[in-house]
Amino acid sequence: MNRLRQFLLITMGFFLFLLLVIVNAPQPAVTQDMLFDELSEEVDEPKEEVNAYYAVHLDGVFLGRTQCPKVFSRHLEDYLAFQSPGSKTAAFPEESLDFTLQRTSDVPVLTPLNQLLARMESRTTLMTVGTVLYIDDERVAVVSDRSVAEDVVQDIQNDYIAQREAGGDAEVESVEIKESIEFKQEKVDIEAIEDPKDVRAVLEAGRVKEVRHEVQPGETAWDIAQVAGVQTDDLEEANPGHSDLNRLQPGEEISLVAPEPYITFVTKEIHQYIRQTPFPVERQEDSSLWPWEQTIEQHGQRGEVKVIERRTLEEGREVDREILEEEKLAQPVTQIVRVGTRETPQQGSGPFILPTDGRLTSPFGPRPGGFHSGIDLAAASGTAVVAADAGTVTYVGWRGGYGRTIIIDHGGEHRTLYAHLNRADVEVGATVAQGDRIGTVGSTGVSTGPHLHFEIWVEGTPVDPIQFFE
Ligand SMILES: [Zn+2]
Repeated sequence: MNRLRQFLLITMGFFLFLLLVIVNAPQPAVTQDMLFDELSEEVDEPKEEVNAYYAVHLDGVFLGRTQCPKVFSRHLEDYLAFQSPGSKTAAFPEESLDFTLQRTSDVPVLTPLNQLLARMESRTTLMTVGTVLYIDDERVAVVSDRSVAEDVVQDIQNDYIAQREAGGDAEVESVEIKESIEFKQEKVDIEAIEDPKDVRAVLEAGRVKEVRHEVQPGETAWDIAQVAGVQTDDLEEANPGHSDLNRLQPGEEISLVAPEPYITFVTKEIHQYIRQTPFPVERQEDSSLWPWEQTIEQHGQRGEVKVIERRTLEEGREVDREILEEEKLAQPVTQIVRVGTRETPQQGSGPFILPTDGRLTSPFGPRPGGFHSGIDLAAASGTAVVAADAGTVTYVGWRGGYGRTIIIDHGGEHRTLYAHLNRADVEVGATVAQGDRIGTVGSTGVSTGPHLHFEIWVEGTPVDPIQFFE
């Protein structure tokens, strides 16, 4: 049999095969098998001549010489029959292979078979029919089969739902993908087929999107980065022409580059929670209490309402809310407060009398160590202290450096204060007449010896008491 004719036939067969593969991609196997059956039958024949050498050309490029056309053809067959992992579609060369084995009588320099095969593989690109995943018309990933891409998207969606429901207070009613997702069958380089794991990583990392931001008054680069969820370094990278991001001018525009997910999930979720309602407060007048006193007769309690609502969220951000059901679990309990209305009967009539029989040792006014807001009347410890005018006792107690102190409200605008007392003989709320004994002179608090520190306040401000006695 004429070898040359035989191999011309093989080359023609390839063209036919390729034509069929491209025209009718899903079922090329028959043609391919037929072709190689023919090839195998030929090379299997034991008539192969021992001293025959073959020059191998691919697309007119000399690859080498071999004595083993049979092994080479087998490998070629395997190579072309290679299927991408998980693919149901056979691979085919990208371009038609003009492949010849030509018997030669040249002085043979044999090419090692593995080298010959490697050269053949490096010069051909295998294509297959794969599925390309498009999101909003953007080519995002290439997979062997539509179901692989669908499974990846479904997995991400399932994980998203699980994450939304993880807290236990939401139940995902429905989920939709905002973007349009398309799967298209296309002729692709077999090397471009991605693993489902890699496809998922691509989808989750998202694309990088540039946004223009107008600087607001008082806004710093750090503020902007915080809000956009990027690093300040990223801001510098996104604005290479900017002279100084530390001196942003309000109104100027800068670039923000932030990752944007390929897939945006829109969920409708049922949320159920207890809402607390405030309690009303009722004020009751009580004439047994002074105006500055108040007591809580009954503590208020907040009411409880069980709420069931449907929320619409985009990537967890609420965009809509609709109340489905409200059920009152507990009525609020009114807080009742008693407010004093007792009249302060004793109004000071003036003029004031000196509250104790003592010697003036320190006048009102500035003195070393600070402003003296009253006068000091030195007297023996235990000397009676009397009310300078009629009024109501509003304070009895320890008052820091003042020691034991009494304050009397004289109605109108006047109050008097008595400090460093040894003892107090009145209680808060007591009404006293001018000259009533209220306590005794002492040296409590910060004091160098027994004396009465006496202040007169007019509308809350201490004034010089001496003016009332001249
Ligand atoms: Zn004093």
